[in-house]
Amino acid sequence: MKLPKKIKIGQMQYVVCSMAADGNWGMHEFGRAKISLDDDIVEEAVPFTLWHEIIHALLGQAGYRSTTLSDEERCIMEKIVCALPFGIVQILRDNPTMREL
Ligand SMILES: [Zn+2]
Repeated sequence: MKLPKKIKIGQMQYVVCSMAADGNWGMHEFGRAKISLDDDIVEEAVPFTLWHEIIHALLGQAGYRSTTLSDEERCIMEKIVCALPFGIVQILRDNPTMREL
């Protein structure tokens, strides 16, 4: 699956790149406006992983950065960030016109 090179998230242009496998499927670097995806994950996991990192970016812009949260808050946020991409990807696949809104 071909990755977009850049994604505008809020007011920031994020660079999207692949990274060598390190145990994380993806990574979001707020200060660098960079999203990296493991170049070895299966193709079906790419959109979910990309959305996972996009949601982290959105939350980071809203002030919910892992560095500012307690361990419990970080754990809850990660559960939410893990759950949302499956619904978002499915909604966009089931409703193509949603992409044009
Ligand atoms: Zn995460």
